[in-house]
Amino acid sequence: MTESTIAYCGLDCATCPAHLAWKNDDDKLRKKQAAEWGSPDYPITAEEINCVGCKVDAEPKFKFCAACGVKSCASERGVETCAHCDDYGCDTLEGWLQQAGDELRQKLEKMRAAL
Ligand code: SF4
Ligand code: SF4
Repeated sequence: MTESTIAYCGLDCATCPAHLAWKNDDDKLRKKQAAEWGSPDYPITAEEINCVGCKVDAEPKFKFCAACGVKSCASERGVETCAHCDDYGCDTLEGWLQQAGDELRQKLEKMRAAL
């Protein structure tokens, strides 16, 4: 795995269904993931399940990650991930971690402990 597959928020793009669907041109996975991630408030089509990865300077990007506040902040600051940031624990990151769950928080904590 290259360093660039770890998104700023700590997710591993290499194992993300949107990345795998793009990489393998997998329509079955696109449909399954669109149904799983989509909701009436945030509809997602199978065609939108395509992503090169958070840190790759190319398209396509999955719309959620393309508009991600954590990504834009970390990219502007030039940090490798939020775990490397002096302002770790900021409201932007906390807002995302409350959606993403404890597993991702624990991963970032481990990354910080290893710095
Ligand atoms: S940036 Fe793309 S590949 Fe990475 S977690 Fe987000 S949707 Fe998945
Ligand atoms: S300020 Fe917050 S969102 Fe921005 S890079 Fe630092 S920890 Fe991440």
